[in-house]
Amino acid sequence: MAAFRTLDDADVKGKRVLVRVDLNVPMQDGKVSDATRIERVRPTITELADKGARIILLAHFGRPKGAPDQQYSLKPIAETAAGIFGRPVAFVDDCIGDTAEASANAIEGGDILLFENTRFHKGEEQNDPEFAKALAKSGDIFVNDAFSAAHRAHTSTEGLAHLLPAYAGRTMQAELDALEKGLGSPEKPVVAIVGGAKVSTKIDLLQNLVTRVDALVIGGGMANTFLAAQGVDVAKSLCEHDLADTAKTILAAAEKAGCAIVLPTDAVVAREFKANAANEVVPVDSVPADAMILDVGPDTVKAVNQWIDKAKTLVWNGPLGAFEIAPFDKATVAAAHHAAERTKAGGLVSIAGGGDTVSALNHAGVEEAFTYVSTAGGAFLEWMEGKDLPGVLVLKQA
Ligand code: AMP
Repeated sequence: MAAFRTLDDADVKGKRVLVRVDLNVPMQDGKVSDATRIERVRPTITELADKGARIILLAHFGRPKGAPDQQYSLKPIAETAAGIFGRPVAFVDDCIGDTAEASANAIEGGDILLFENTRFHKGEEQNDPEFAKALAKSGDIFVNDAFSAAHRAHTSTEGLAHLLPAYAGRTMQAELDALEKGLGSPEKPVVAIVGGAKVSTKIDLLQNLVTRVDALVIGGGMANTFLAAQGVDVAKSLCEHDLADTAKTILAAAEKAGCAIVLPTDAVVAREFKANAANEVVPVDSVPADAMILDVGPDTVKAVNQWIDKAKTLVWNGPLGAFEIAPFDKATVAAAHHAAERTKAGGLVSIAGGGDTVSALNHAGVEEAFTYVSTAGGAFLEWMEGKDLPGVLVLKQA
């Protein structure tokens, strides 16, 4: 059972429901270029509308500096949202004040309003109680469906939940359920794959994982830092030599916690960082002096896949190689396919997310096959770091 209230517990008919959603979508030439985030909240909006709720959408867009700035207006997004929800979405050019309140009071069950960017007010990012009171005037109930913003203690993600009865929307609920299966109370053995460019951006994450999982696969550029810390000459490879001690600390913590560390044993190396650069496979201790590691090698992929075979739960963040340039996407694609097959066969719960992981898994064509792929970015990473997310915590307390 969920440890937070969901729409199952809410009586929304005729109520003004302030729904925090993630509409921070990429735009090109004034149009939404990728509507994935809007599509993700559709189940919540449709359910609320069908139940006769009066819906008021709250969201941020971009990084305006606490004041109106038309390049960050949510107005152009209303039309796309209407198309996706299959219902009109009326735009209101402020999220607090007389017009906002009057608009919220005037709508009927099933109607949808989109309030202007909450970050047009300083109080949003300051989680200012006065701003929260002003926002709360337009609602009877608060529903948070924006997991991706839940790592921030802002008014529309946290403060509002102290003033109104607060519930998780369906997307938030699905995300939290998936994350609970990943690291909360996972079926063991749990294997984590962490790749990507640098150790420096993922120190907390690695430190948390070694205490939580049975095996940690380290791939991508960050593996070079671990290899170098162990005395391997990684030649021209991306490597944070100054983090050798950090890498050693993480390895020692893993050993203490009984977490197996899986590092590359072979690598695909090239002389140039570009698509189809001439390349070869070498053992990691034989990287030529003028070459760099751009992917893990086939023996390493075999070892990773064997760990995936042993796992009942897989948590994945970051590619195993420079997946954007062929053929250095090979290991990421192969391991992703293997995890997808095992998930489809019912043997594995596979949870992935954060940064480039979504595009890497999309590139491998496995997004649908995984148990859950989170598009949440920063919030997903903070969850992997074992941090309490303010926007989630407040729903649990509500
Ligand atoms: P991150 O955002 O930390 O998950 O890093 C993702 C980036 O790491 C991608 O752009 C990859 O191209 C890059 N990457 C992965 N492996 C390597 C490598 N061996 N050398 C250089 N870059 C890499």
